[in-house]
Amino acid sequence: MADPELVDVVVIGLGVGGEEVAGRLAEAGLTVVGVERDLVGGECPYWGCVPSKMMIRAANAIAEARRVEGLAGTAEVRPDWAPVAKRIREEATDTWDDTVAVRRFTGKGGRFVRGSARLDGPGRVRVGERVFQARHGIVLGTGTKPSVPPVDGLADTPYWTNRQAIEVEELPESLLVLGGGAIGLELAQVFARFGVRVTVVEALDRVLAVEEPEASEVAAAALRADGVEIHTGVQAQRVGHDGRGFTLYAAGGAEFTAERLLVVTGRRAHLDELGLDTVGVDAGRRYLTVDDRLHVTEGIWAVGDVTGEGAFTHVAMYQAGIVVADVLAHARRADGGPDPSGTANATGGASGATGVGGSAAAVPRADYRALPRVTFTDPEVGAVGLTESQARERGVNVQVGLARLPSSARGWIHKAGNEGFVKLVADADRGVLIGATSVGPAGGEVLSGLAVAVHAAVPIARLRQMIYAYPTFHRAIEDALRDMS
Ligand SMILES: Cc1cc2nc3c(=O)[nH]c(=O)nc-3n(C[C@H](O)[C@H](O)[C@H](O)COP(=O)(O)OP(=O)(O)OC[C@H]3O[C@@H](n4cnc5c(N)ncnc54)[C@H](O)[C@@H]3O)c2cc1C
Repeated sequence: MADPELVDVVVIGLGVGGEEVAGRLAEAGLTVVGVERDLVGGECPYWGCVPSKMMIRAANAIAEARRVEGLAGTAEVRPDWAPVAKRIREEATDTWDDTVAVRRFTGKGGRFVRGSARLDGPGRVRVGERVFQARHGIVLGTGTKPSVPPVDGLADTPYWTNRQAIEVEELPESLLVLGGGAIGLELAQVFARFGVRVTVVEALDRVLAVEEPEASEVAAAALRADGVEIHTGVQAQRVGHDGRGFTLYAAGGAEFTAERLLVVTGRRAHLDELGLDTVGVDAGRRYLTVDDRLHVTEGIWAVGDVTGEGAFTHVAMYQAGIVVADVLAHARRADGGPDPSGTANATGGASGATGVGGSAAAVPRADYRALPRVTFTDPEVGAVGLTESQARERGVNVQVGLARLPSSARGWIHKAGNEGFVKLVADADRGVLIGATSVGPAGGEVLSGLAVAVHAAVPIARLRQMIYAYPTFHRAIEDALRDMS
């Protein structure tokens, strides 16, 4: 066995979260080894957020052009996938090449190692024949992979995951989407708007099941208006592929056929590959268990999707800030400097108190109460905090208010494509919002004001005194507040 090489920190997985942590720790003066087995940047820039939102931008342009009729004359639309595929290949992903991203990391002083890493005992990481001993810590940012359900026959077919759907150069004639969550609906609507015959099959009784039921209704109606067939409450039992297309056989005898099958039934961390047993951590869980400073166990932190705290890029970035501050605090302590980690509720930073960057300010603690999320269908479904049913399950004295966009001034003016609403969930005892949903043409943007209200626990009485610009979509917040009284 090779002698371990002594470094300060090893980061395993350079996706959104890992790259941010590794880069910032390297900039702070630590010797950081970043290990990535696939592409630096992870799922978001290559097969996730960025290319999917480019697809959505293109599909929404088509939908807007189709709305010209009745508003502004006539417009002829002939969808063409070629510019979308080209944009994803050339602008988003450099043809799935991470040279620029690797340089971004090494330019910050990090050392890049391509390969698959696993833990090899306390403080040690193995990448093939190489072993690194980390003085100050190891950070796991290994993300998730698609979770494919154990449906008979499925594993033997050439089904798509998000990766093939994002890389597609030529659209199929028809597409079966297994899974009616955010990713499934976004991609279903895109492909339908480009002329693909799309069918969505969902096991639960509604699409977007984690969001408010009203959001599921609006999203389903919007997709149906785009020609998407939606079937809920369907238990897939068997999948067959005959060389030309797929057949999905469901409980009760229903059958669905299409040229392609896209499986988007959630994602899961693959903890079994990480050597967690060598550091006494249970690899049998769905996600890594972390505390509010993203600690897994002595000397090990986790960041991003692998923590199961919300599979979003903004969660990975938020957690990265905490991990960086905490690792620097530990490094300072190991070097004999003051330990700021005991004091709470302030933001860490870089000041170089003891040779490594990092201020003596307190390390923040993770708080997900105002976690925002957006499904980028048209209309967008934005949500923050708790849904009404989640709040009721927690025994909160719930008060709700709802305002529909089509009957608001801006919605009425907007006309075609004006579906949506604002729904507020309040803790009546505390007089603050604890959740909100904003569905509409700019649902994700309207969400920002609601996220501030939930995050800062702005008293509802103060929100009622606010002036809401006329005629904006966000004025529906005022209407929903009125509906609550
Ligand atoms: C289609 C789609 C659309 C999405 N859209 C959005 C969106 O609009 N907004 C949003 O906020 N989020 C979106 N997401 C989610 C977002 O992509 C993830 O939340 C984000 O990528 C998580 O970052 P991460 O660093 O935790 O993991 P990842 O990005 O998954 O990165 C983990 C990295 O670790 C590497 N790795 C794993 N194990 C090892 C190992 N043993 N050794 C070395 N390397 C390893 C992997 O190769 C990977 O590169 C979307 C996801 C998908 C699939």
